[in-house]
Amino acid sequence: MNIFIMGAPGSGKGTFSSKIKEEYNLNHISTGDIFRANISQGTELGLQAKAYAEQGKLVPDEITNKMVKDYLATLSDKKNGYLLDGYPRTLDQAKAFEEMTDGTDLAVDVILAMDVPTDVLTRRITGRRTCKDCGEIYNIYSKPTKVEGVCDRCGGELTQRKDDNEESLKVRLDEYSNNTEPVIDYYEKKNMVSHINADASMDEIWSSVKEALKNK
Ligand code: AMP
Repeated sequence: MNIFIMGAPGSGKGTFSSKIKEEYNLNHISTGDIFRANISQGTELGLQAKAYAEQGKLVPDEITNKMVKDYLATLSDKKNGYLLDGYPRTLDQAKAFEEMTDGTDLAVDVILAMDVPTDVLTRRITGRRTCKDCGEIYNIYSKPTKVEGVCDRCGGELTQRKDDNEESLKVRLDEYSNNTEPVIDYYEKKNMVSHINADASMDEIWSSVKEALKNK
């Protein structure tokens, strides 16, 4: 099963991607995670992406498409399927992906759209904290750690993403409505989208996700 998970910043893509990947044993790629890892390691790709990512802007399609293409080439167990998180985010990316995968085992089967109202997103984003070591995601309002600043799972230090501030959030939300919502509409016309009400409890969201992926 090949899945795109799409949603605005703070819609729960990262949190539910970890659960989906484990439950269905999928190859998982988050384009945002790859950019962040490259930026912190100071690679060539990181240098190209840094200014865009830190201001909340989309990294140019050419750079992003090449990165995804390179990743697809490394997938050894294509039969297990993938979960693509944070891609495609523009119509050009969607079309480039189709060119890379149409008629192969790598064509996408289903698009999960995580729907959350904008006012809820702002609170989720500004309260988000991530463990430096294991990547677990918390929220100071809705999912605090037992000890402030320390990961419950591994004891690692929690950090706030550089782009999780109100200024870059505004840019990211604009990017989402201008560039990414049209991608959801595009797949909607092909009848490939399952909408998930992601403004609900973790259990409710998880049940909707499993229901959407049943028999896929
Ligand atoms: P995310 O973790 O998905 O919110 O992504 C963080 C940042 O990485 C975004 O604000 C963009 O700067 C960059 N990024 C991630 N995925 C893409 C993509 N598909 N296209 C362009 N830029 C991306």
